[in-house]
Amino acid sequence: MHKRSAHRSLLVVGSVALDDIDGPFGMHRDLLGGSASFVARAAAYFTRSVSVVGVIGDDFPQRYVDELVELGVDVSGIERTAGDTFHWVGRYAPDLATRETLDTRLGVFANFDPKLPESYRDAELVLLGNIDPALQLNVLGQVRAPKLVAADTMNLWIDIKRDELLKMLAKVHTLMINDEEARQLAEEHNLRRAAAKILKYGPTSLVIKRGDAGALLFHGGGVFAAPAMPLTDVVDPTGAGDSFAGGLMGYLAYAGDLSPSTIRTAMIMGSVMGSFAVERFSVDGLRGLTTERIQQRFDEFIELARFERVRL
Ligand code: AMP
Repeated sequence: MHKRSAHRSLLVVGSVALDDIDGPFGMHRDLLGGSASFVARAAAYFTRSVSVVGVIGDDFPQRYVDELVELGVDVSGIERTAGDTFHWVGRYAPDLATRETLDTRLGVFANFDPKLPESYRDAELVLLGNIDPALQLNVLGQVRAPKLVAADTMNLWIDIKRDELLKMLAKVHTLMINDEEARQLAEEHNLRRAAAKILKYGPTSLVIKRGDAGALLFHGGGVFAAPAMPLTDVVDPTGAGDSFAGGLMGYLAYAGDLSPSTIRTAMIMGSVMGSFAVERFSVDGLRGLTTERIQQRFDEFIELARFERVRL
């Protein structure tokens, strides 16, 4: 699947983090995390044209940056500055279905003013990963003529940066959020109604991620459902949503078109990459995958949801 010359380039902005994760498998400290870390790794399996904008502090291990370079990712937009790397502390409930944020330390993100390298400004696909919506807008403003802009966000920004978030929504084509965030953003419990409301804020499509219940794509009155693969081993759901976004956008870059059927396939590819991510801690589930394993899991998804049309 590694295309040397992908049809479209993908620019990713997001957090590059060190995470402390607590839950049924104990406390794990200083794991590599951050939205951009998962997105870039998932997307890199589909296209060699991924570039990342982000910031790291002087405590961030260089080997994680080198690893991205080995995957063919352009890291010239990752800035290292004096201070601490963004640090997130979260705790999962015993069933891994819900989590709470215990601490968010912005560190070097607090003063980050991204300057896109010239080569990044012609990106065709842009993924604004979960990060302060003011930074998402700042980055988007530097891209010349993107064909597809997708964005993620989270409850923190809906709570404290709603105005900036609404400004950002007016400029994106696709919003990708989880069900709780959709309800909070729309102030509406029913997901179909919430989706209709959010689509009035600007995006033409909305992806609602629902953990092990799969993901829904709402667009132009229609809805498409991608299932989640029932897995035997789930240890760390952190980054599942970002890996989904990376698989989806990476596949769109690889496929080179934005037709409805390609977008449906991309939803499944997102589910494939999300399913790998949750099987290990941090980005480990995304490490060392092969085209064959990705293809095999994609085929399992076809079987999972295939049924015949009947005439009653
Ligand atoms: P996900 O599980 O897909 O929602 O993504 C989890 C990742 O998001 C973790 O690795 C965190 O480092 C990162 N994260 C958590 N809170 C924030 C935040 N407020 N801004 C940016 N990234 C965050």
